[in-house]
Amino acid sequence: MSKAIAEVHSVLRRQFHGDLLRPSDGEYDVARNIWNGMVARKPGLIARCTDVADVQSAVRAAAAAGVLTAIRCGGHSLAGFGTCDDGLVIDLSRMRAVSVNAQTQRARFEGGCLLGHIDAATQKVGLAFPAGVVSHTGAAGLVLGGGTGWLNRLHGLSCDNVVGFTVVVADGSIARANAKENPELFRALRGGGGNFGVVTEFEVNLHPVTFVLFGAGMCFGDDIPAIVKQWRDFMAYAPDNLRWGISLTIAPHTENIPAHLRGRPVASQGLLWVGDLEEGRRYVDRGLSFCNTVAVTKSELSFLTLQTMADHEFPHGRRYYTKSGYFKSLADQEIQRMVEALVTIPSPASQIELSYLGGAAGRVAASETAFGDRSSPFIVNLLGTWSEPAEDAANIAWVRALFAELRPAMTPGVYVNFMSGDEQDRVPEAYRERWDRLVDVKTQYDPDNFFRLNQNIPVRKS
Ligand SMILES: Cc1cc2nc3c(=O)[nH]c(=O)nc-3n(C[C@H](O)[C@H](O)[C@H](O)COP(=O)(O)OP(=O)(O)OC[C@H]3O[C@@H](n4cnc5c(N)ncnc54)[C@H](O)[C@@H]3O)c2cc1C
Repeated sequence: MSKAIAEVHSVLRRQFHGDLLRPSDGEYDVARNIWNGMVARKPGLIARCTDVADVQSAVRAAAAAGVLTAIRCGGHSLAGFGTCDDGLVIDLSRMRAVSVNAQTQRARFEGGCLLGHIDAATQKVGLAFPAGVVSHTGAAGLVLGGGTGWLNRLHGLSCDNVVGFTVVVADGSIARANAKENPELFRALRGGGGNFGVVTEFEVNLHPVTFVLFGAGMCFGDDIPAIVKQWRDFMAYAPDNLRWGISLTIAPHTENIPAHLRGRPVASQGLLWVGDLEEGRRYVDRGLSFCNTVAVTKSELSFLTLQTMADHEFPHGRRYYTKSGYFKSLADQEIQRMVEALVTIPSPASQIELSYLGGAAGRVAASETAFGDRSSPFIVNLLGTWSEPAEDAANIAWVRALFAELRPAMTPGVYVNFMSGDEQDRVPEAYRERWDRLVDVKTQYDPDNFFRLNQNIPVRKS
């Protein structure tokens, strides 16, 4: 244990209410793991907080000792920012309370919640918070970066639905950020990631959603580029109630797919309708009838089923690498390039995720939140996923090569939560004309860049 970590441990031991885990402790080896198996680091100390006072103590002790500190909610950062070697992890996994006010349609949740905790509490009264599509994702990291998901087109990004934050800032004091109190910090926290402090509580707007209509189907061969073009042309005019995404990948070896098509490149579609289900049936049927679609399913799902149905596709501990970007329009040649890339995909679990933002999320002005410009609606996410360390190089190379080919046609900009850990040079690109204001907020609230394990916004040099 380094001298600095020993100092932090000795200070916290006297006042901490939660658990302090060192490498010699029994629970440490499980507690140090995060979701991305590519990032296996060994922190010197894991401080599992139980309350805001614990967070304040941990921030103060680490800042005083000059110890590198990671903040962890769900540990799902693709870049692995929820951990570090030798330093301190402030682990919020024991701070997962959610309270819901059905009358005001608002919820408050603590900074360690996973999406599933929020859904479970809000669905008890038929309400939903617009967030991501996998229930074991941490809410704090997702919301602070922006937060895309099934309800974005109807109700905006997660960060658009936040009305207030409670934050422990770098000097250990508590700041509130909302439309009236610290409005610049409020703006920065909606898209600016974990740069400004530890958010211990979020207050958010909820929306009535209980049942949805969901359709899925797969297209093969020449139908792959054909369906992507249909989707591209259709989405610009689609109602906000429809969220239609396509994943280009390799068909699994499952019984619902004809044997001769298993293991072949596929465009896997998911069409969600939120609203009047009869009206939705027309849209879902239409989307699934554009091409010769196989393995078609259509069902009314509870919101909780929708929110958990992809959980098993993204298990903890596998190896993941991603690169992402926006397109204002998607030309035929980029579509062709993506389809061709499926032929050399090294892992059948990897995918090219195509989603279309627009709707309510697209109508929020760039200046309102740090998340920024939403005028390029196509989001392309190249998600490499595989199991064996020996396959790292081939999988990373595939993602990088395809990204390099698509990059010239992308609009400058990137969603910080879909970035890997080797893309620090793209952070200014993520914030573009909002950069200077964010640097000012960072300089005011975190002048020593204590919170630096994130897609980092630097402090202004005086
Ligand atoms: C399986 C999976 C599915 C995903 N699906 C979606 C999706 O549908 N939509 C989407 O938008 N994104 C999605 N993402 C990306 C996701 O938004 C990011 O990975 C996000 O960082 C996860 O948050 P976390 O709290 O689990 O991460 P962590 O690794 O715990 O933290 C990530 C970052 O947030 C900071 N942070 C964490 N908690 C706090 C806090 N309380 N206060 C201040 N800073 C904090 C950390 O310092 C770190 O920089 C997905 C990721 C995975 C792995």
